[in-house]
Amino acid sequence: MTAAGPPVTVRTVAELRAALQERRRTHGGRVGLVPTMGALHAGHLALVERARATCDHVVASVFVNPKQFDRPDDLECYPRDESGDARALGRAGCDMLYAPPQDAMYPAGFATSVRVGGVTDALEGTHRPGHFEGVATVVTKLLLQALPDVAFFGEKDYQQLLTIRRLAADLDIPVAIEGVPTVREADGLALSSRNANLTVQQRRIAPALAETLRATARRLAEDGAPADALLAEGRAALLRSGFDSVDYIALCDAASLAPLDAADRPARLLAAAWLGPTRLIDNVAV
Ligand code: AMP
Repeated sequence: MTAAGPPVTVRTVAELRAALQERRRTHGGRVGLVPTMGALHAGHLALVERARATCDHVVASVFVNPKQFDRPDDLECYPRDESGDARALGRAGCDMLYAPPQDAMYPAGFATSVRVGGVTDALEGTHRPGHFEGVATVVTKLLLQALPDVAFFGEKDYQQLLTIRRLAADLDIPVAIEGVPTVREADGLALSSRNANLTVQQRRIAPALAETLRATARRLAEDGAPADALLAEGRAALLRSGFDSVDYIALCDAASLAPLDAADRPARLLAAAWLGPTRLIDNVAV
């Protein structure tokens, strides 16, 4: 069924389950869940639209999850706009907004954490200690709270997408995990809530991340050259463009994220780099 107007807002697991049970009882059909941290942009809304196109009931969650922030300043600066989010969700065809308060998600005494091995070991896992444990814990909770048929995640956060696929499979959570391609600005910059923190000058430099990834991926695919030299060139190109530092630019197996010496199988090229206090990540298929 198609939503009209703003979505119904629910704030507790009990309300969420009751509302979904009622929808399933009266209309049947598939439930799609889109987990987010709010401050919604067209990237998030692409997930909602994908859910709308393939599911009968669309739920979006908005919860700024403190457990996945490795820097207190990043959590403090994180943009919040629930009423704007609700309006945008309504326009995108979302039926229900699940916006639990912090103490409903993590009540006093909360002591459980979900740690996924393997795919979380390198890249963001190395540079943001505890990040994926926070993500895995909150996503496991959201999946068990809503028990959707499908949950939608962006390829923008490629390592996160693989982490969530892994945890759903390993914990036998009966949900299909669907990845949605990255939505970009006209100049190639991947949409991100953190782009709002860029100065005018940094915003001019930022598209170099996607550009460098695309150019490096093309050369990796065409030349069959050893990755080492091309990755070093990519890193140098980012610094030349004006990035202040580069956490990584890495060629990995597209399914396991194991490092690759050459693009001799389905691969992903991933990078993270800093513009002042803002850290941008992006990735492309090779
Ligand atoms: P966040 O609110 O940053 O936790 O993101 C919520 C979901 O939106 C995640 O699955 C992200 O991967 C996805 N997402 C964020 N930015 C984009 C984008 N530019 N294109 C597609 N999906 C995105």
